Amino acid sequence: MVITKWTPENLRTLSDQFEHSHPVEILRWGWENFGDGIALATGFGPEGVVLMHLVSQIAPEMTIFYLDTDLLFEETYALRDELANRLGLRFTRVHSRLSLETQAAQYGPELWARDPDQCCQLRKVNPLRQYLADKGAWITAIRRDQTQTRAAAGLVEWDAANQLVKLNPLANWTSRQVWTHIANYHLPYNPLHDAGYPSLGCWPCTHPVAAGADPRSGRWAGLGKTECGIHLSPLEARKNRA
Ligand code: SF4
Repeated sequence: MVITKWTPENLRTLSDQFEHSHPVEILRWGWENFGDGIALATGFGPEGVVLMHLVSQIAPEMTIFYLDTDLLFEETYALRDELANRLGLRFTRVHSRLSLETQAAQYGPELWARDPDQCCQLRKVNPLRQYLADKGAWITAIRRDQTQTRAAAGLVEWDAANQLVKLNPLANWTSRQVWTHIANYHLPYNPLHDAGYPSLGCWPCTHPVAAGADPRSGRWAGLGKTECGIHLSPLEARKNRA
C-alpha cells in the first residue's frame, strides 16, 4: 500500500514497525520518502554525531542544519568544522532575524536570565518553525530516556507544532549505545562532555553537573525549565496552536 498522506495514526503504526530496526533503516526510509524535503537537525551533541555518521553513509547530500543562537560554545563551532571535514558534510546555519544587539534593545539585556522561554522562542523556536515551513519531514536526535516530555517519542511521528513528519531514529537508544557507537567508529565529539557538561546548549544556560547527576540538570539550572520548546508533546503542541 502506498501512503500519500501522513497522519498521526499511520505514523504510529509505522513507528511500531520500526521499533526493532536499526536507526539507519529509519534514516533510509526518510530519505527514500522525502528526498530533498527532509532535513536533519543537530545541536552537535553525541546523538547528533551518531546520526550524522549514519547519514554520511547513506545520503551525504542530505540537508543538515543547526540553530545558531549566536550563543553556542566555541567548542561546538569547532566540532561543526571537524565533522564537516571528517564526514564530508555541509551544514545549513539557521539563525534568528534578531541579532543579540537588537534583542537586547527590544527586550532588555540578558533576556535568557530573566525570561528564558521568550529567549528560546526568539532564538530557537521561531527560526525553526520558519525554516521547516517548506519541508516534508525533519530528523531529530532525541532519546526517550532524556526527559519526561520525550518519553513517548515515536521513531516516526507527526509533529503537530510544525505540521510535518518527525523522525527520531535514536528514540529507543540509550546513552551507552550512543557512546559505544562513537567509540567504535572513532568519531569526534565535544570535549566539554569530558569536563562535566553531559548536555550542551547555549553557554549562558549551560552549567557543569556533578558526576551521576541528571545529565540535563545543567541546562537552565534553577530556572524550572527543561526544554527549549522545539520538542513539544502532541498535547503541548495543540495548546500552542490554539
Ligand atoms: Fe536563550 Fe538560553 Fe534559550 Fe539559548 S538556551 S536561546 S541563551 S534562553
